[in-house]
Amino acid sequence: MRRKIVAGNWKMNKDMNGSVGLVQEILQSNKLFGCDVCIAPAFPFLSEISNICESTPIKVIAQNVSEKDEGAYTGEVSLDMLKSVGVDGVIIGHSERRKIYGENDEVLKMKLDNCLKNDVEVFFCIGETLDVREKGKQNEVIENQLSNTLFDLKDVKLDKLVIAYEPVWAIGTGKNASSEQVQEIHHHIRRLLNLRYGKLSESIPIVYGGSLKPNNSKDIFSCPDVDGGLVGGASLNSQAFLDIISSI
Ligand code: PEP
Repeated sequence: MRRKIVAGNWKMNKDMNGSVGLVQEILQSNKLFGCDVCIAPAFPFLSEISNICESTPIKVIAQNVSEKDEGAYTGEVSLDMLKSVGVDGVIIGHSERRKIYGENDEVLKMKLDNCLKNDVEVFFCIGETLDVREKGKQNEVIENQLSNTLFDLKDVKLDKLVIAYEPVWAIGTGKNASSEQVQEIHHHIRRLLNLRYGKLSESIPIVYGGSLKPNNSKDIFSCPDVDGGLVGGASLNSQAFLDIISSI
């Protein structure tokens, strides 16, 4: 049985007070979560939020990490730095990192290698643009995104890996993929994972991201190949995030 996960990506939102307030609201609900729950606040607040979440069911993850270990890389944050403040995982390859900051497969492969070798939970984001979807080439694009990065790594440990399917056209647009579209592509991803890793692949969760809201999450989470969600906008509201978590 695969674990279920809901993660909130706060992106570049909330200052220190706002971040602390949001996590406290989530914790105060005293809800027993029926799945793993992660939150990804901005870098400056990771330490504080990790302290607050210690001994709670919430795991704190980072929105990005450098592929380098240390040195003269102004503005970058290494995996060891993140681990030293209690961070449990990292989002890699978010479409905003790919598109706005030009992260390519070569860099993403290095990031993945480093994180998976170091036993850190990884949410590896893949997904097609609208243009690709309109041409019906989404399966090919997804296959390339995996072949050029994850599938090219040797001796990879898979137990901390989560694949996040996030169609770019659904991120922050209010236009989620339908449950049929999600199921179809998750099934494709599961097949690819199986072809590459065989039985070992069976425990890798595949979560969906793209305008997940309390009013569509139940439907999407009910798809057999969906193991949870990566939530952007709706994770900035404690009640909406909690409602999405309880719909799993
Ligand atoms: C995301 O950025 O990972 C995301 C899924 O955003 P939203 O839920 O706002 O579409």
